Amino acid sequence: MEFRTRVAQVGPWSTSFDGNLRANQYGETRLPFRHHVRSTRRDTCPRKDGFSKYLQLPVELQRHVLSFCDPASLFQLMHASYSTRQEAQKLFWADPTSRYVIDGEWLLTGGHPRHTNHNLDALIHMQYIEVTFHEWSCGFFQNWRERQSYFDEIQSEEKIAAFWRALHHRFPNAIDVVLDEYQSQRPGAPVPEKIVHLAMGSPEGISISISQLRWCNDKWYSPESRHVWRKRSNDTSPTWDLIETFWNPRRILPPTKKYSGPVGEYMRYKHKHVELGELECARDVHALRVTAAYYLHVAQTPCVCLWPACGLQFNRPEEWMAHYLEATLRRQDHDGAVPPPPCEAIRAAFLHHDMMLAQNRRQRLDELARLQAVWGEPGSLQRSAAAQQFLQQLRDDPSYAGEVAPEESEIWLRYQQNMNVSVVAPTPSENM
Ligand SMILES: [Zn+2]
Ligand SMILES: [Zn+2]
Repeated sequence: MEFRTRVAQVGPWSTSFDGNLRANQYGETRLPFRHHVRSTRRDTCPRKDGFSKYLQLPVELQRHVLSFCDPASLFQLMHASYSTRQEAQKLFWADPTSRYVIDGEWLLTGGHPRHTNHNLDALIHMQYIEVTFHEWSCGFFQNWRERQSYFDEIQSEEKIAAFWRALHHRFPNAIDVVLDEYQSQRPGAPVPEKIVHLAMGSPEGISISISQLRWCNDKWYSPESRHVWRKRSNDTSPTWDLIETFWNPRRILPPTKKYSGPVGEYMRYKHKHVELGELECARDVHALRVTAAYYLHVAQTPCVCLWPACGLQFNRPEEWMAHYLEATLRRQDHDGAVPPPPCEAIRAAFLHHDMMLAQNRRQRLDELARLQAVWGEPGSLQRSAAAQQFLQQLRDDPSYAGEVAPEESEIWLRYQQNMNVSVVAPTPSENM
């Protein structure tokens, strides 16, 4: 097998992009559940007249028809007629091409409701899961703990057992789990050992794989460089087979829980802030893809790096993408957001998107100011009432049940820190 790392495939040219996409710090994109189930094509809705004909078909044929539906259509059918509901639901969750992204550090600490934004009822159905570690974007957990890195934790048999217990508890229907290793390795390097240790604790009946990003020349990695190894089952001493070298599935972020009370208000604020960071990462991914497609399909001229301070020229868009990844990592002549290519329509699309992002940033600041107003002045009756309400909810509300006493919980600690900082313009890489 060849181990060359490709940058990214240059897609077709389009003057629009999906502004709902999120990305992590590696440029891997994911779609929030609410957009995943919202069809962009209106014609996929079952029409009333055609639908009653469908319902007259024998059950086997109905099933056959459903098997061709996309996730958005299936999701609609899950809420349509009683007869289609069950089959549509089964097919919807059994779709192996939609991979749900889950925060591994949440599971390592027991998967308690307190430290997740996921709707726990939805997790029960999920079958195809990708567990990520060390993503600043996926939540806020790793920074809440002033403990060791998860790397040290997954060496502990006790932690490993807790991880798999939590996974089984939260995802009783999981059949296929990919564990992401966050540290990159050179192409050709073997399956990463430490995460193998975690994988070895997995229960029977779940297909386990490990994935890792690959460096290219020790300089940069591409979101499409993920290698995947699958554990060969029925083996006394398991072996890991390299099954993919450009793994880039359709990633879905699970639906969020219903926020209520002062803890919910705070969690919503945190979640929106994380989302903003993910949208900002995705903005660069859009610009990268659009620019490469523009030079390949429209301009058909050498690709000019669009940063004013750079201006280097490349014969092929892939070469520019490699340059982009390398120069951006080194922060060399690439300050600020990626400028869009010189095309009216796409510049207008980016202008609009950037305005939305700026509005989003202002909203986050307004929200923080609003939360701080509720928190009140030090020593005031308002402050002690706010503190009591917050702690009370942590104590009583099952949506925020955790393993430690409310007063000692990280969420309480972080809440107080956030309430006491003066509101300044946040940056996406800010410690969340
Ligand atoms: Zn995390
Ligand atoms: Zn450049």
